[in-house]
Parts: sequence; C-alpha cells; structure tokens
Amino acid sequence: MNCHCAEIVTPGLLDLFDARQRLIDAATPINTVETITLEQSAGRVLAETLVAPLDMPGVDNSAMDGYALCLADYQAAPGGAGLPILQRVPAGAGVMLLPEGGCARIFTGAPVPMGADIVVPQERVTLDQRGHIHLEGSLVLGANIRRQGEETRMGTPLLAAGTFLDAASIALLASHGINTVNVKRRLRVALLSTGDELITPGTARAPGQVYDSNRAMLNVLLAQAQCDVLDLGVIADSPQSLHQAFEHAQTAADVVMCTGGVSVGEEDHVRPVIEQRGGLHFHGVAMKPGKPFAFGYLGAEPASSTPLMALPGNPVASLVGWQLLALPFIHAMQGRSVAALQSYPVKAGFSQRGPRGRCELLRVVLDWARELPVAQLAGGQGSHMLSAASQADGYLMINPETDVAEGSTYHYYPINQFAA
Ligand code: AMP
Ligand code: MG
Repeated sequence: MNCHCAEIVTPGLLDLFDARQRLIDAATPINTVETITLEQSAGRVLAETLVAPLDMPGVDNSAMDGYALCLADYQAAPGGAGLPILQRVPAGAGVMLLPEGGCARIFTGAPVPMGADIVVPQERVTLDQRGHIHLEGSLVLGANIRRQGEETRMGTPLLAAGTFLDAASIALLASHGINTVNVKRRLRVALLSTGDELITPGTARAPGQVYDSNRAMLNVLLAQAQCDVLDLGVIADSPQSLHQAFEHAQTAADVVMCTGGVSVGEEDHVRPVIEQRGGLHFHGVAMKPGKPFAFGYLGAEPASSTPLMALPGNPVASLVGWQLLALPFIHAMQGRSVAALQSYPVKAGFSQRGPRGRCELLRVVLDWARELPVAQLAGGQGSHMLSAASQADGYLMINPETDVAEGSTYHYYPINQFAA
C-alpha cells in the first residue's frame, strides 16, 4: 500500500514505503540454527521448511457421534427393518471390520470400520423396539467421515522456513508428532538512548530534565519481537560518548538501535558519528511523526558490519518509526517472513489541515457506534504526546498536501498488526 507520495515529498526525504522496502532488502538474516524442543519454541522462527512426517488424519475417522454403516446394507434391509447395532467403536480403538448386516455405534474421532461408507449423526437416528437403527434426512455416501490424509499427506509441506512459531503452528507440529524443531537463533539488539536531559523514571526531575521513556518503550517492543536486548542506558550528547557506546554495541550485538540526537541541530551528534564509524544508507523519511529516522551501519563496509537504526527522540516518532520501519527490518534479520502492511478504508469523523511535504499518521480511535467505523482523533497529535498514542487503535494515513475532510475515506492502519 504505497502512498505514492514520492513526487511530492520534501526533497531529501525518502518515501515511507520506499524506506521500509530498503530496510527489508538490506537485512542479512541470521544464519545460526539451533535445535530445540517444541515446548521451547514459542516465538521462534523456523529455519527449515517442514514436511508432514505422516498423513493427517492417520485413518478414516468419524466427524460425529453416531452410527457407521454400509448405506447399501441399510437400503437393502427387507421391509425397512433397519440395522442391528453389532459393534461399538470409541476413540482410540483400532481399525475394525464392520460386521455384515449390522452397523456400528461410533464416536467422534474413532476409526470408521472397514466396510462402512457413511456415518449418520445420532440426532438423526431412532432405535426401534428391537434395537435396530432407523435413519432420517438425506443420506450421502461418505458423509461425516474425515478421510485419511485429507488435511495433509505424508511428505507434503507443513510449515515454510521463516514461519513465526505461534500457538496454532506449534499445535500443528504437535498434531503431526513433531517434538523438536530447527530454529534461527535469537537476535541480539543493543539499545541506547541519547540526550543530556534524560533521567531514569523513579528519580526526582529537575527543571529541564526529561524521563527516558523511549528506552522503556523499546525494551518492551524488542522483547515482544523476541529479541535479546543489550540495554546500554543513556548516552550523553557528545561525540566521544557516542563513539564509545557504538564501539561496544557494534561488536556485542547483531543490530544497534538508538533514539534521539539524529536531527540536524548542533547537539545532534548521532549522524556524524555513524558516518565516522561506518556509513548511512538513508537519513530522513517523509513521514509525520518520524522524519529523522536514519539507517546505517557500523563497520568498514555494509556487508561485514553491524546495522544501526537511529530513531527520532520524540517518543511518538520513535514508536511509529519502530512499527513501520524498524520492526520489518528486525523480522527480516530474524529470518522471519515479513508481513505486508495491513490497511483498510475508514471515514474520518473530523476535518483538519493536512500535512505538507510528507505523509502523516494521525493517532485515531475507531468509533463503532454506527454500521461502519469512523475515525476520531485519539488526542493531541504532537510527536511528543504519548497520551494519544497510548489510546489509539490505529493510524489514519494522510497523504502530503491533502487536507482531512469529515466523511472522506483514508487508509487506516490498525496498531495491533505491529504486536510481535
Ligand atoms: P532529539 O531527537 O534528541 O532532538 O530529541 C527530540 C525530543 O525528544 C526532545 O524533546 C527530547 O527531550 C525528547 N527525547 C529524546 N530522547 C528521549 C527519550 N529517550 N525519552 C523521552 N524523550 C526523549
Ligand atoms: Mg537530543
């Protein structure tokens, strides 16, 4: 979903979707593989495509509690005499042979006896005084029988390399009897905040000081994204401190992430230090908030170096930069298949002047009181205002030079797509 704003963005800024693609393309996935038990595998990324080691289901079995029979036997019973119950097949029983001239009482999941070609649910069966069954409703050959291999055939692909192992995929593997998996090793990310004004929550604030919320936020986001975090704390606004911190980070981690100090003010030392220690792929994205996002590397050349993402200092800019740009890069580094961005059209419930020179991601809540949802502003839209971001359901994407008109439709990006 491209906002196609490349032609009208401020010169020097990269289109948001181009920046996202450049990040994904630049990622070199982790290639170390670990063998772990299925129990330990939640949140890990499959390192190989797995094929089914057996048929699923393993045998023809019943989809209902009812009666298994040969339809022709039932229809041939003289004078509509029905069929006697000559067998009982609970779940866990082996595959039996249907006794001639009779039917089997059968339960969900139990193997359909050989010779039976239909299972009739118990709700559609009556028993006469002799204990013979009589059937109601339409009788279709093969009904209520789950066929061997109808879901997966032995040897066919089960899960692709790059699959994120969540509850359903782990259950799928368990259902096929698999209990060890080859996964990528976890990604190690060095995290640091820059800014002389930053202090740690829990200490008293002097005038001019600011609590470091970005590191609190990114620690959570990185953990949710299944990364091991090397938290390097707050780094002072000086080239020397940054050099020191980056030197450590680039050898100790797979990826470096920092926030703040990446605009173009004279107190912003991150860009020049990156350029001295490595280089920049790009700096500046045509988005609001999130413009001062930088992507570069620490080391002699991109291929053998440590990638670095420098997020803006403003907390909401940092959050949006993570969600739209950093997260897909992290997923690509993890060897995980990167999901396409999800958006759908939603009407705005307000009017306001639109962004100039870049697209804007308005923090909105959805009002579901009517038939279709309507987006309302979640609160103040300053890039320093976490209160609105904390309430928002999603972002309404406004293209550059486009004013927002109440009742008009815009692309809405649900925030829950960025969870892990
Ligand atoms: P900067 O990008 O360093 O110019 O910072 C932009 C704004 O974000 C300033 O108001 C900073 O005080 C604020 N800021 C920078 N880093 C953080 C952080 N880690 N937590 C909260 N606010 C921050
Ligand atoms: Mg700063």
